[in-house]
Amino acid sequence: MAKIMDGKALAAEQMIQLKTRVDALRDKGKTVGLTVILVGDNPASQVYVRNKGKACQELGILGDTIVLPAETSQEDLIALIEKLNREKAVDGILVQLPLPRHLNESEVLRHIAPDKDVDGFHIENAGKLFTGQPGVVACTPKGILHMLKASGVPLSGKEAVVIGRSNIVGKPIAMLLLNENCTVPLCHSRTQDLAAHTRRADILVAAVGKPRFITADMVKPGAAVVDVGINRVDGKVVGDVDFEQVEKVAGYISPVPGGVGKMTICMLMENTVEAAERKVL
Ligand code: NAD
Repeated sequence: MAKIMDGKALAAEQMIQLKTRVDALRDKGKTVGLTVILVGDNPASQVYVRNKGKACQELGILGDTIVLPAETSQEDLIALIEKLNREKAVDGILVQLPLPRHLNESEVLRHIAPDKDVDGFHIENAGKLFTGQPGVVACTPKGILHMLKASGVPLSGKEAVVIGRSNIVGKPIAMLLLNENCTVPLCHSRTQDLAAHTRRADILVAAVGKPRFITADMVKPGAAVVDVGINRVDGKVVGDVDFEQVEKVAGYISPVPGGVGKMTICMLMENTVEAAERKVL
């Protein structure tokens, strides 16, 4: 049976350390501040934003949520971001995605000051990751790497297969794993004979968005399987991995819920604390 990579427990440990750092900043007269902008009333986004607010509260971070109507114009949204860029009390700015269709996401994200871009989606931070320079790393990939390392999964020289090539998960986790000296095939919807790739993987990261897509026959015995997927099936949240079957083959596996999702919020908090520390320390 696979060892569980317990995102909930790892995040709880990390939150204790972050709390100490938030307190240390407060002793220096700095209250950490995160502002989340939510445009429209997408129910999943509302849940994510609420969870971010709870994590802020737990750490003593001043979490502010600005809710804008769905029909907000691009100019107004950018004007708000630029105002927040200038506010000293705001260390991190996060624009909750997806945005309503009439708004241009990459254009909007480009206006967040790279130092306050705690989601790590600004093109400057993405470019830094790509070229191996220090910058803000996107929360989900950062959380995955933290989870693998904390679980003692060997990385250097190993084959790490990533499925999914999105800008927020697939591409950045591929880069992080490459920086850890993994060999990294990056698979996607046009990949031929996907299972031939996945069966070679010492580390398998599934970021597809299809329930129970990864079956036991696709997994190399002993592999570390990271399930990024969040899919709602009959009112239940399930991942991209057929957990019950894959657990019997894998060496390590992350559950859904209680895996990568917990790490993601924790890394958002870490990126926010780091943004405040850069100003003060
Ligand atoms: P996306 O839709 O942008 O990308 C999905 C990727 O899967 C695409 O690159 C596509 O090429 C690939 N794909 C689709 N069908 C495939 C197939 N048959 N074979 C191989 N590849 C295929 O999604 P995303 O934003 O990267 O998110 C992926 C999943 O992770 C979703 O379920 C999302 O909800 C979840 N997610 C979770 C967290 C978290 O914190 N746990 C964060 C972000 C996303």
